[in-house]
Amino acid sequence: MIPYGRQDITEADIAAVTEVLRSDFLTQGPAVPRFEQAVADYCGAAYAVAVNSATSALHLACLALDLGPCDWLWTSPNTFVASANCARYCGALVDFVDIDPRTYNLSASALAAKLEQAERIGRLPKVVLPVHFAGQSCDMRAIDVLAKRYGFRVLEDASHAIGGRYEDMPIGSCRYSDISVFSFHPVKIITTGEGGMALTNHEELTRRMVRLRSHGITRDPAEMTQTPDGPWDYQQIELGFNHRMTEIQAALGFSQLQRLDDYVRRRHVLADAYDDLLKDLPLQRPYRNPDHASALHLYPVQVEQNRRVIFESLRHAGIGVNVHYIPVHTQPYYRQLGFKLGDYPEAEAYSARAISLPLFPRLSDDELLTVVTAVREQF
Ligand SMILES: *Cc1c(COP(=O)(O)O)cnc(C)c1O
Repeated sequence: MIPYGRQDITEADIAAVTEVLRSDFLTQGPAVPRFEQAVADYCGAAYAVAVNSATSALHLACLALDLGPCDWLWTSPNTFVASANCARYCGALVDFVDIDPRTYNLSASALAAKLEQAERIGRLPKVVLPVHFAGQSCDMRAIDVLAKRYGFRVLEDASHAIGGRYEDMPIGSCRYSDISVFSFHPVKIITTGEGGMALTNHEELTRRMVRLRSHGITRDPAEMTQTPDGPWDYQQIELGFNHRMTEIQAALGFSQLQRLDDYVRRRHVLADAYDDLLKDLPLQRPYRNPDHASALHLYPVQVEQNRRVIFESLRHAGIGVNVHYIPVHTQPYYRQLGFKLGDYPEAEAYSARAISLPLFPRLSDDELLTVVTAVREQF
């Protein structure tokens, strides 16, 4: 089976991991801060906080932004469930903004319309969480204008998007947001096995996320709320978690980061080949904004009809196609909260016709032709 996505592990990665295994620290050593600094430098952000998954990073980010019970977080229905679940962990309420049918990203104009309505009924969101679907940035400039006008915070779910760009900056720079989050799951752009990272330009948000990552404990006397007992003292000043990344993961991530630009370049070569070899078929290829380079995590096509038959027959041919995504609001958990089919028609229409074709750096030219041949046989 050719999967839709998979990691690339080199001898250099294996050597980097082995070196950590022979070192003094498997956790809480020098590899995590080195990886954090390298990603922050790459993205042009001031601070980075590494954690054990993007889900954990989203959770800590919501807490750092003071999202709590009675607050609203708005996100896209066309995402992985973690983008919405992070608000529920904080006891907050979730609502969705429909997608732009061209980019499949949260629509800035739908957001503007929904904000206008929400202001009238006094139900404005505290946090808006745009998701850079398939690695292509949302319209961050427009979202930033709305954030300033309506006073909400912006948390970018950039799980798909490390290595992509917006305007003249890497995604993750946080030029138009408070916090950006990356995922290092093996199907994503670079991997640490499990892992994630939150980037920000705010020192105070960094301090909160660092503390919440490790039980809510501080060793900084300036943060302590009781007079320190002695040089051994640590104080738990709030309820945190163990969301830490290990040294093993960080060493793998640092090694992978050295190949990030090569990975994204290869993804572009493969997507260009799909664009060319599928252009005469009656299917919708993914739109790529020429002004902002996508990280190209996914290559989702839309078929006009027979999605189920085509999907099954591709799977049968050994092509590990997938659907990104089943709209979050149609999941049983979210239906139970009151959402229903029909709430976000653009996301639903896209999802009903979507098939993600395999796209990852190690996909060979021959494998790509196998995929193309199998797809062409469907029409
Ligand atoms: C993968 C993904 C996540 C969750 O990432 P983990 O690192 O697996 O927790 C969150 N949001 C989006 C959009 C994702 O694709």
